[in-house]
Amino acid sequence: RRKVFLTQSPSKSLDTSHGLTVRKDLKTHGLVPPNVESHEIQSLRVLKALESKKSPIEKYLYLSHLRNHHTHLFYRLLSQNLRTFTPLIYTPVVGEACQRWSEIYQQAEGLYISYSDRGSIAAVLRNWPERDVEITVVTDGSRILGLGDLGINGMGIPVGKLALYSGCAGIDPAKTLPLTLDLGTNNKALLADPLYMGSRRNRVSEEEEAEFLDELMVALTTVWPGIVIQFEDFKNPFPALERYQPKYAFFNDDIQGTGAVILAGVINALRKTGVPIKDQRAVFMGAGSAGVGVAKQIVEYFIQAGKLSEEDAKRCFWFVDTKGLITSNRGDKLAAHKVYFARHDNEAQQFKDLGEVLDYVKPTMLMGLSTIYGIFTPAILKKMATFSTQPIVFPLSNPSNKSECTLEEAMLHTNCQAIVASGSPFPDYVSNGKIYASNQGNNMYVFPGIGLAAILLKVSTITSSMIYASATSLATSLTPEELAEGRLYPAIERIRDVSVVVARGVAREAQTCGVDATEMRWLREVSDEELEAWIRNKMYDPFMAGVGEVVGRKSKL
Ligand code: NAP
Ligand code: MN
Repeated sequence: RRKVFLTQSPSKSLDTSHGLTVRKDLKTHGLVPPNVESHEIQSLRVLKALESKKSPIEKYLYLSHLRNHHTHLFYRLLSQNLRTFTPLIYTPVVGEACQRWSEIYQQAEGLYISYSDRGSIAAVLRNWPERDVEITVVTDGSRILGLGDLGINGMGIPVGKLALYSGCAGIDPAKTLPLTLDLGTNNKALLADPLYMGSRRNRVSEEEEAEFLDELMVALTTVWPGIVIQFEDFKNPFPALERYQPKYAFFNDDIQGTGAVILAGVINALRKTGVPIKDQRAVFMGAGSAGVGVAKQIVEYFIQAGKLSEEDAKRCFWFVDTKGLITSNRGDKLAAHKVYFARHDNEAQQFKDLGEVLDYVKPTMLMGLSTIYGIFTPAILKKMATFSTQPIVFPLSNPSNKSECTLEEAMLHTNCQAIVASGSPFPDYVSNGKIYASNQGNNMYVFPGIGLAAILLKVSTITSSMIYASATSLATSLTPEELAEGRLYPAIERIRDVSVVVARGVAREAQTCGVDATEMRWLREVSDEELEAWIRNKMYDPFMAGVGEVVGRKSKL
């Protein structure tokens, strides 16, 4: 069934692919140039225009315009050009877009809610022109990527992330809400910038923000019952996760999505080495939201797949932060999220630098989530190769100029022994005619599928076991060819298929946990194949949308 969505912007239906009948139905006949164009012709025009833009930010703006005005065409092109479009609509270019958001502002996108709106947050939400919202990505702009506090300029993040939800998991773009909280900023340059478009005040206190978030959560679920809520790029994301995860269909991608996607890579890396889980020793460089999120997912895997007790699993991890090895008695007050992994080995508290820690631990795995470029030096990498025949080395910091090492360095200094996944994309490494595939542990592999399953099963909460299921499902999604090439992750071009596999795994776990809505429980009885087909059928397909007869939902406008 082909359909056209009538959304709030009338220009969204000015698609040059519409035939005469549709143009007459939509009363757009005459408003669009006469030729009825094929997707190929439309693509040709877009790709040419894109090529003619010199700077990444011009390309970003062009694609934003396309997304807002020719939505289906944008998503058709995104699905066909994932590898080249993703860096333009999300990292790294979205970073620059956020830094310059107020300067390059051209069109309204997403919803802003200010601290002064407290008491009437629901009323602001109701201004959103779409009646039916299934998922929102929320940021307070306090820690945008690695760029710090960007205030409301952080809007690029929810906008970009939701475009990926639609592109990768077929979540209807008309049912997504990018949401940015205007709670002030401590960024002095922004406060002094006449163009800055957010409230000109310092950030509200933690207590004030917590109270505001409580009202926001109630308002969101009142206006759109069952809405899936994803928090992104909060400076301290742990308290909100703890507070809202048990009560709402809520998750945090920086902690949980990162944890899941890296666990999937670790599962496949461990399969390659064959070293039993009980013999694993992991050193983490960096103990922020990403580092701790990743380690917690791996602990869960060690418990489930390695049959270790939680205590034994936890003892396989050593964390290094700016003050050295994290121990319970090193003399500073540890941030709450670090306490879980603090070491109790007494002799360990003296270790300050990574090299010393490595000599002490002799790890099988070295994970980089430190944001520090080059901190996995040749000497560090060489050490890893002396501890095991196939050391697992994951330099995960983004973008590439923050990566702990490159794929090339990791291979060069370990005689190609290392099994590597990185946060940023690197070119494949070739040595003696052998290709070592670059593995990018991109959150894109999991968050769209988690969101899709949560929406479709109308879950009451997103349990930690559902996040875990996203990782184990992703790990199984590789084709025999991808496995033969030594890959840890599937090809990004297959992302829609991968998202279906992830969504199915998450959905099954939701059913096991009993968090699926009563009216969706009939799905418990269907086979895996049927469930997968059902999921696929529910996905927004930009090739089917926007052409043909009008069955459009009417928006409020
Ligand atoms: P974060 O909260 O800022 O944490 C950074 C951690 O690194 C902190 O624990 C910090 O120590 C530590 N650190 C900084 N400099 C160090 C140094 N010189 N020596 C030792 N430790 C140092 O950042 P995050 O959100 O966790 O993200 C970390 C990195 O992960 C980012 O680069 C991000 O791009 C990347 N990431 C990757 C993925 C992915 O690959 N899929 C997903 C999400 C994030 P203190 O605690 O002492 O300050
Ligand atoms: Mn993030």
